[in-house]
Amino acid sequence: MSHSPMHFVPPADFKARARAALDDPKLRQSFRGAMDFLQGKRAAQFPDGDELEHLRDLGEAIRRHVLANLPDLLTQLEARLTAAGVQVHWAETADEANAIIHRIAQSHDARRVIKGKSMASEEMELNHYLAERGIDCIESDMGEYIVQLAGEKPSHIVMPAIHKTRGDIAELFEANIPGTPYTEDVDELIQTGRRALRQRFVDADIGVSGVNFAAADTGTLWLVENEGNGRLSTTVPDVHIAIMGMEKVVARLEHIVPLSSLLTRSATGQAITTYFNLISGPRRPGELDGPREVHLVLLDNGRSQAFADTQLRATLQCIRCGACMNHCPVYTRIGGQAYGTTYPGPIGKIISPHLMGLEATADLPTASSLCGACGEVCPVRIPIPQLLIRLRTEARRDPHETVAHPLRGQGARYSQGEHLIWRFWSGAFAHPFRYRLFRWAATRLRALTPSRQMGWTRHRLPLTPAPRSLADLLNEKGQPE
Ligand code: SF4
Repeated sequence: MSHSPMHFVPPADFKARARAALDDPKLRQSFRGAMDFLQGKRAAQFPDGDELEHLRDLGEAIRRHVLANLPDLLTQLEARLTAAGVQVHWAETADEANAIIHRIAQSHDARRVIKGKSMASEEMELNHYLAERGIDCIESDMGEYIVQLAGEKPSHIVMPAIHKTRGDIAELFEANIPGTPYTEDVDELIQTGRRALRQRFVDADIGVSGVNFAAADTGTLWLVENEGNGRLSTTVPDVHIAIMGMEKVVARLEHIVPLSSLLTRSATGQAITTYFNLISGPRRPGELDGPREVHLVLLDNGRSQAFADTQLRATLQCIRCGACMNHCPVYTRIGGQAYGTTYPGPIGKIISPHLMGLEATADLPTASSLCGACGEVCPVRIPIPQLLIRLRTEARRDPHETVAHPLRGQGARYSQGEHLIWRFWSGAFAHPFRYRLFRWAATRLRALTPSRQMGWTRHRLPLTPAPRSLADLLNEKGQPE
């Protein structure tokens, strides 16, 4: 059976999808419940507010240090990995990354790929790309597997199938896994999924994985997971290909420890995950297992655009915990699939414009109340609300205006009329004389304002002066009999 995921749907009709999600009470209820659960689990992991703030300071400092030294750290990582026998590939675009992986697959005459969880591969639509070239790529993370069977995109970066009910999964398994009866028993469903995937690990020619962090000083790829599928995907097949967004590097192996603590506690409310996989090269002579060939694909795909801008660069601090999504009043109501992007929720709103251009994503930064919850829970202190405001500005900037680092799709929502109104407004408010003149004219032209013409003020109750004393009050109400 070949699984080809739904091809990328541009988020252009975001508003229509958000409206449809709001009209779906089942979806809203299941998301609300799941998000409340995750919020509670995260809160329980950080009972000590001081410790949390200290860890956030540390996490932010580590990530900012990475971004201040990114080119050097990537070069160092490449040198360390190459010395250990890992083949490092640089991909500027998702297409380039897909083509690199396809070439590796062709060189091994590979037909079957098993893939651990990797959001970078979702960005690239790797499954779809390989399926079009006759290579079957199966997801081995249970949530990703469910979403793949359904032909959908993940609705959450940590829990891809969180929008599915037990009944939905039971129907999917019954329809897609031969000999599977309908059951809503969670343990049985998990066992069914595990049995279906187990042979896939054995049969796979290539294993693909993501990378949570990579240490430049030791040349170590660090993978965090709970199901053991990541370990199987990276050790059973003869060839392992890791895909990593270029910002995931850190300077030193020891820096990964506090970041992992922040990641697991913020993401799933776990003090620690079941598996940490540390990969530093292919199987060495005398070793009994492990891949004979290891590749790392370093993916840019728009990240260097964010990196070039000193404010938007903070986007790349992200460690993909998903906490901002779990606490966002918009995401918790519409769910992940309404966004139509690989990364939904607040992190999706700030990263997608770099990956896909503002012309395809200009509505996303406006889907926020700017309540600030995302910024408050972010374990590495990304100022998400400020970045949203900046992206809104960029979407409405004159497309012909020359700026130091123009964003792809600058001015996608530009309107000359609106631009003139705001210019007039800022001109009027910039000088006291102009402001007074504007106020003088505005008060005299008030009769022409729509509110007066529409007449809605006629329906307002006039303010009555407060009674001055108890005697006044009694006079108004009348004396008691
Ligand atoms: S932006 Fe912050 S809270 Fe959101 S996924 Fe990234 S690290 Fe987590």
